[in-house]
Amino acid sequence: MALLMDTRFLLRKVKDLRSLTPKRNRVKEKWAATHPKYPPTSLALQHFDATYSVQLGKMWPSVRVALLSERKYGALLNNFSHDAVLADLQEKGCRDFINDADTEAQPCLEQVSEEESSDVPVKKPDSDGQQLSPPQLSPNIKCVVFPRGDITRFKPARPDTYRLLGYYLLDAASVLPCLALNVQEGHNVLDLCAAPGGKTLALLQTQAIRFLCVNDTSVSRTLRLRKVLQSYVPKEFLTDENIRITSFDGTRWGDIERNSFDRVLVDVPCTTDRHSLTEDDNNIFSKTRTGERRRLPQVQLALLLAGIEATCPGGEIMYSTCTLSQIQNLSVVEQAIHLAREKHGIHLEVVDLQPFTHMFRKTFHFAPDLHLGEMVIPHLAANFGPIYMCKLRRLT
Ligand code: SAM
Repeated sequence: MALLMDTRFLLRKVKDLRSLTPKRNRVKEKWAATHPKYPPTSLALQHFDATYSVQLGKMWPSVRVALLSERKYGALLNNFSHDAVLADLQEKGCRDFINDADTEAQPCLEQVSEEESSDVPVKKPDSDGQQLSPPQLSPNIKCVVFPRGDITRFKPARPDTYRLLGYYLLDAASVLPCLALNVQEGHNVLDLCAAPGGKTLALLQTQAIRFLCVNDTSVSRTLRLRKVLQSYVPKEFLTDENIRITSFDGTRWGDIERNSFDRVLVDVPCTTDRHSLTEDDNNIFSKTRTGERRRLPQVQLALLLAGIEATCPGGEIMYSTCTLSQIQNLSVVEQAIHLAREKHGIHLEVVDLQPFTHMFRKTFHFAPDLHLGEMVIPHLAANFGPIYMCKLRRLT
């Protein structure tokens, strides 16, 4: 009885309070008729549940949880900045995962026979029969991360006295394709799909490039890329002798500039799995973008083929995405190798990146047993990726 009295009293109080609020200030929750029943993020999750549970099997539940949880960032250090930010970040508990890479030689793995039986030629790194020697890394690319399991956020970078920022925040795994591309002194490099520019900055950190072409078909995104470069690279360096920024359709690159570059990065548009699961804005799973999403593998293949044509014989191409999708990753690479040979008479070999990924196994989780390329898979204790990468070498 007492409880009923209390409830009545409270309800009356609420009513009294509402009558005190002027009518014009009351906010009525609106339910828009246009509000989609299934937002793009839900459609993405449905799609991934259907495809990745088959592709990844038992691994999918843990990858799914990681994808839906807060991601981890890394800070790519800017060698052009005059502020010594490394010591400051180390003091906060960060470490440079590249400098800390495990350079111990990797024991030869038994997996080789399976790869050799495939149609695609895989080049094993030189070995003495027992050990695979660790690959050389650019000493100038530095990227710091917080320890495993620590998801402390980085503060935004501050400009130095020359107005250049000390670091660029990005998924630390996205530095791996740039590192593995192994840019050498005096190389001509093409970054075919470059905006907003995280990987371009990583390539520039090598301080080895003779000439860099950065391209992105989207004019607005190229403008953003230009602004990023202006915030990180001194004006004196951004000259026509060093760098060319364009907004061409990359699929046509082979028509204009063939056999020209020592290194080509083809970081294609994809379903950007993490973004598609967390942001409804600009989401490739929105109903209006279904056609664009279905055409992705076709566009990716055309871009990779254009990148292969743009590379000089002996040169190397890195194909990368931020999706787990086999159709956008391995299948695209397989078709590109086949078509390059059949249509253009270009022979390629796949460079084995296992000794490379072995060096970073304490920082990232890599998918086991991929027969083509390597993939960082998200994990709650090291929530980076997904990043897929496959390196090709032009033989002819
Ligand atoms: N490499 C960039 C980075 O690290 O910041 C991210 C690139 S993002 C994954 C893919 C980019 O490809 C988008 O900026 C998109 O505008 C661009 N793109 C899409 N189609 C293209 C085409 N046909 N030619 C060149 N770029 C294209």
